[in-house]
Amino acid sequence: MNSGEFRRRGKEMVDFVADYLEGIEGRQVYPDVEPGYLRPLIPTSAPEEPDTFEDILNDVEKIIMPGAASPACTELETVMMDWLGKMLKLPEAFLAGQVGEGGGVIQGSASEATLMALLAARTKVVRRLQAASPGLTQGAIMEKLVAYSSDQAHSSVERAGLIGGVKLKVIPSDGKFAMRASALQEVLERDKAEGLIPFFLVATLGTTSCCSFDNLLEVGPICNEENMWLHIDAAYAGSSFICPEFRHLLNGVEFADSFNFNPHKWLLVNFDCSAMWVKKRTDLIGAFKLDPLYLKHSHQDSGLITDYRHWQLPLGRRFRSLKMWFVFRMYGVKGLQTYIRKHVRLAREFECLVRQDPRFEICAEVTLGLVCFRLKGSNKLNEDLLERINSAKKIHLVPCHLRDKFVLRFAICSRSVELTHVQQSWEHIRQLTTDLLRAQRD
Ligand code: PLP
Repeated sequence: MNSGEFRRRGKEMVDFVADYLEGIEGRQVYPDVEPGYLRPLIPTSAPEEPDTFEDILNDVEKIIMPGAASPACTELETVMMDWLGKMLKLPEAFLAGQVGEGGGVIQGSASEATLMALLAARTKVVRRLQAASPGLTQGAIMEKLVAYSSDQAHSSVERAGLIGGVKLKVIPSDGKFAMRASALQEVLERDKAEGLIPFFLVATLGTTSCCSFDNLLEVGPICNEENMWLHIDAAYAGSSFICPEFRHLLNGVEFADSFNFNPHKWLLVNFDCSAMWVKKRTDLIGAFKLDPLYLKHSHQDSGLITDYRHWQLPLGRRFRSLKMWFVFRMYGVKGLQTYIRKHVRLAREFECLVRQDPRFEICAEVTLGLVCFRLKGSNKLNEDLLERINSAKKIHLVPCHLRDKFVLRFAICSRSVELTHVQQSWEHIRQLTTDLLRAQRD
């Protein structure tokens, strides 16, 4: 949607809301619809080609409005998470469908999803061990629980461990910054010998620093053998899995208990929208279910409805699935794939430009839209270059450390980025580099 159309549609939307408010007395306070009313009214998967804005808005009146106050919010979310799961070719077990044991929920952030998974895993292991040895206290078990991630995992994983009150151990990644079986097994053997209880592992697909990928096909089976909950954090990279050529990066998801990525990072859905699936929704619901009288409702125990308050920290929730519904229909799957592919292509263009300049080196494999690069030379030299780049305020780069190296990160992330922006950025970086090296010589 270009800015002209956005202006027009935005104004129409204000009219839509104003009409709704003016006519609100003519609407029912409590809906007539039965649980499950929405799923048969919309297609079973996202459209390949874009729908028109008019069609979508008509459907809001026809399909959403009858579900006032507000089963529509829950039901659209369940179906949108199935649509998105199908776009990623997630195993059937993660989808809610009409009879499945899995399902998706929209969380606010990847950090929340990791925390929810860790807390659910913690409850599950405590219950299992107490069932086997009724004398064991929760405190005695908690003391021995250990969670794991690679040394490249996002800091939110460590935070989940802190909030969840369990130890978190870091598995050293390999030369490509990936978690591998051998390193994991070594730590597990040592911890078990010390009487610790491994119960949870976060594998990252698309790490924050350099977009590396833990080896799911290796660590997944180990988690299953050891009865550890496997959570996959694909916060950024997950969006790319809608493209068949990147879907192999998700191979091994079948070993996971939960999987999460942020459509708000790279799938054109506005913040916030973090998509989380679990293979067995009872694992989440069972961990956090409380039912005070003021939250009881008529279909509560029918098993017919999803009650998302049991899947998340907050009670109240936004109607975030509307954003997904609009975006998936306005772009179609093909439009979203085109968007991802363009960013990856531009990252590769940038990589080529860097490789043509012998003063620079590429520091990690470029798989998606992130290029890690640096000037050959000291960390100080690269820190000085970054300082010049960010002080000039034409582009903004966020650095990282890869092992002991200070590295610059060029991330393609704007909706409107074009090849000329990438070329201009590179020219700018080259010019600042020349200035820096000259200043050092003088
Ligand atoms: N996990 C990874 C791999 C990330 O790159 C990030 C953020 O950049 C996060 C988690 C945290 O995401 P959120 O802000 O959704 O909690």
